[in-house]
Amino acid sequence: MKFDIKSNSVLDEQLGFAKRVTNLLANTYGTCPKACVQTFGCQQNVSDSERLKGLLCEMGYTIVENMQEADFVIFKTCAVREHAEDRVFGNIGMTKQIKKDKPNTIVAVCGCMSQQEHIAEKIKKSYPYVDIVMGTHVEHRLPEFIYKRMTGGKRILELSMEDNTIVEDIPIKRDGKFKGWLPIMYGCNNFCTYCIVPYVRGRERSREPEKILAEFRQMIKDGYKDITLLGQNVNSYGKGESHGINFAKLLRMLNDVEGEFVIRFMTSHPKDCTIELLDTIKECKKVTRHLHLPFQSGSSRILKLMNRYYNREQYLELIKNAKERIPEADFTSDIIVGFPGETYEDFKETLSVVNEVKFASLFTFIYSKRNGTPAAVMEDNVTRAEKGKWFSELLLAQEKVAQENINKFIGKTYRVLCDEVSEKEGYMLGHTNGTAVIEFEGDKSLLGQFVNIKVESYNNGLCGKII
Ligand code: SAM
Ligand code: SF4
Repeated sequence: MKFDIKSNSVLDEQLGFAKRVTNLLANTYGTCPKACVQTFGCQQNVSDSERLKGLLCEMGYTIVENMQEADFVIFKTCAVREHAEDRVFGNIGMTKQIKKDKPNTIVAVCGCMSQQEHIAEKIKKSYPYVDIVMGTHVEHRLPEFIYKRMTGGKRILELSMEDNTIVEDIPIKRDGKFKGWLPIMYGCNNFCTYCIVPYVRGRERSREPEKILAEFRQMIKDGYKDITLLGQNVNSYGKGESHGINFAKLLRMLNDVEGEFVIRFMTSHPKDCTIELLDTIKECKKVTRHLHLPFQSGSSRILKLMNRYYNREQYLELIKNAKERIPEADFTSDIIVGFPGETYEDFKETLSVVNEVKFASLFTFIYSKRNGTPAAVMEDNVTRAEKGKWFSELLLAQEKVAQENINKFIGKTYRVLCDEVSEKEGYMLGHTNGTAVIEFEGDKSLLGQFVNIKVESYNNGLCGKII
């Protein structure tokens, strides 16, 4: 399916509103107004927030970390698990006092949580001090909503999703200096039975390759050395588009850009991870030696109930193919424990995949019921306490695997991007093009540079020396 890229007139209109807000802010606050963006959830949200911050700066706000000092507070929310939602409600509650102290403060909620009608209604009813609630498809209209609210308009609730388009060229204020996010597609078509994402983020739609390439080149020019391509399922990039550029081809295009840098990507759905993609990773030396391949469950019966379109054997075959082609690669995965109908026997199959693949690290979750998904009405007879026990067993198994993995690093030399100052005085931290982090002696002048590090030991982390 072809989705239209919105013409720049949509953005121009919003930049017009931004200008008007700038004037209003000068009259209302006098001094430089401050905005705080609180982000919950995944990297896609972090990246979306960088665009919200870009728009806020365009309006004249300075971005601050602390809600208490802000004149505008926005919550970019996550709906993937109940726990994330509870945290957001707790944080929204804190703005009541802020508004009491400073009545001119504007509070907004956006992201996956607010896209759900029952949540938006709850915010409207129970949190009267929230001024703006906006869904995932209208975030580019933030200047318009602030303008309308500031000029005495009613509280705003805008959840429309019907025009599944991509608005390009929104100003961006990136959080990092050397590591950056680059969304290549939005939405999801997979409808895994436990997952709320397709309902709140809409259908899959890819950005034009030229737009991605232009943003990528600009990031390299601005000094970014480690760029992560984002999408719910990057492997299906370009599906249904006439340009014929799939994810493997896109990776080759970006790999050919001049300069020393690392290209990462997430997330890869195992069902769409092709041999062409594995060969591309093998051949493109600037592409990460890391595959995040969420398997969710090691039981083929549960995978079928989850609507994942692969079984245990196919997943293990994919890992075998990947290891043959890219033996140095790190593998990571997501696992859900306690999906409705899962038995201990099913769970043991998950444990056996963990022990067999030897993942570098895992993101593990206890199943969380999401209203509106097919799994929410499936029978679930295992108690939370029992699921908790299985979960602990899984963590223990992965801890053992991680310990075994350490030996493979000792004595080897890695090219790392020095991108963080260590807590230990006189030391720096660097990331390999896989998932490892190495601590080594050095000073801040190394920040943003690639250095060769030989790993010598392990002491609560890998320790090495510049060679
Ligand atoms: N699109 C990615 C994929 O398919 O791998 C993942 C996106 S999802 C936001 C991140 C992870 O959250 C999933 O891989 C899954 O393990 C977990 N997750 C999603 N829905 C969940 C639920 N209802 N309960 C527990 N974990 C869930
Ligand atoms: Fe959710 Fe599945 Fe889509 Fe990932 S692929 S976002 S888990 S529905």
